Amino acid sequence: MRSPLPPRHETVIIGGGIAGLACGRRLQDRQRPFLLITETIGGRIRSSADGTVNLGAYYVRSDYRHVNRFVDRGRRMRRRDALRGNHNGSFTRSDSPVLLHLPQAVRFLRLMSKFRRRYETFRQDCLQMSQAEAIRADRLLFDLYHEPAPRFIQRHRIEDIARSYLTPLAQGTGFTSLDRLTAFTMLVGALPMIVPMFEFTFRFDLLMADFEEPPLFDSVIEVTPAGSHYVITTRANGTFTADNVVVATPIGVSATLLDLGPVKSPIHSHTFLVRGNLRPPWSRAAYSLFPEADPTLAIARQADGSTLFCSVHEHPDFGEYFDTWQVVEHQYWNPAFHLEGDALLECEQGPGLYLIGDHNVCSLEDAYITGVYAANRILSGFDVSTATSPDP
Ligand SMILES: Cc1cc2nc3c(=O)[nH]c(=O)nc-3n(C[C@H](O)[C@H](O)[C@H](O)COP(=O)(O)OP(=O)(O)OC[C@H]3O[C@@H](n4cnc5c(N)ncnc54)[C@H](O)[C@@H]3O)c2cc1C
Repeated sequence: MRSPLPPRHETVIIGGGIAGLACGRRLQDRQRPFLLITETIGGRIRSSADGTVNLGAYYVRSDYRHVNRFVDRGRRMRRRDALRGNHNGSFTRSDSPVLLHLPQAVRFLRLMSKFRRRYETFRQDCLQMSQAEAIRADRLLFDLYHEPAPRFIQRHRIEDIARSYLTPLAQGTGFTSLDRLTAFTMLVGALPMIVPMFEFTFRFDLLMADFEEPPLFDSVIEVTPAGSHYVITTRANGTFTADNVVVATPIGVSATLLDLGPVKSPIHSHTFLVRGNLRPPWSRAAYSLFPEADPTLAIARQADGSTLFCSVHEHPDFGEYFDTWQVVEHQYWNPAFHLEGDALLECEQGPGLYLIGDHNVCSLEDAYITGVYAANRILSGFDVSTATSPDP
């Protein structure tokens, strides 16, 4: 006797990070059913056990138009609150490099504001076309996407500004060096220099409000086409079939599930929540960004006196930074993100098969928008007017 067919879903979303949840939110708002299969809710948005500190994604910018609807904003993070590490081991928060290299600083700010305008348009476009299409449609963004950051810095003669500001920013927030980034990724990472940024508490209750079907907590191990639909195999609950599949897992996992070609290289990091007495100079600033190639990446002092400590090492030498310390939580990001390289991946991987997430552009807002776009593509199969109506 043949075994019964597995239940057929209109849409299965694999992965409950911000990209997958954004896709679910959009489908739910348009009353289309979906099943979310995920290992966790939130993915790389993860707070400490007491909910006070983010151990993964740490800030939102004021231009995160979609994401900001689902966060409670915390402290504003200002440039003047951050120490920047130098090659000689010293730390500073002085803006003297701007005065010393004024023409460079002016050039840099002009480049940033031009980039910001184009990037804003790009994000609007991404609601109706894939990120890859939107990048290809803008010659400037396309060139930046493939230009190594060091060549961009040299071409625009902003070496001193890059050394003083962009290098510690790449280390402290991208966990890598400028040499390994493209100009596009570097400029996205530098936007907090001109756009206000804030700590936040994520409100999953708002993002997932009214989701009709509860998420299925499981691990997807295979997605295979079967005629007009797809078969999704999970580790614990067997198989599911769906007309549409949205793959919203970290790109390393998606690459295996979808048998993708090259993707950007992974970057790994460890985040520790530490209670103890931080030493100067780090105790004198809210944030410290470390110099290139330092195994320590960033330190963020919290309002309650605890400290977030990011490192490439699993066992950092806390004695170098603290008089006394106790590690309260440890999170290994394996990986934190894929940032290095210029792989540009398409959203549509086959009829009704969508790849979303932060694999092209790494930020909460950009990942969210990929989810809205995939939902819009699915909705367009039912009613064009609902698909094109704006995401509020
Ligand atoms: C330490 C750190 C700091 C960061 N700081 C910032 C920041 O300050 N600001 C910012 O904008 N961005 C930041 N980011 C980046 C941001 O967190 C990511 O770009 C964003 O969260 C990616 O969302 P996503 O939905 O694409 O992926 P993820 O959040 O990784 O979600 C993927 C989901 O897939 C699930 N999953 C994985 N494998 C499977 C499987 N086989 N089957 C089913 N489900 C699976 C996971 O459980 C998870 O729920 C940071 C990231 C890290 C790690």
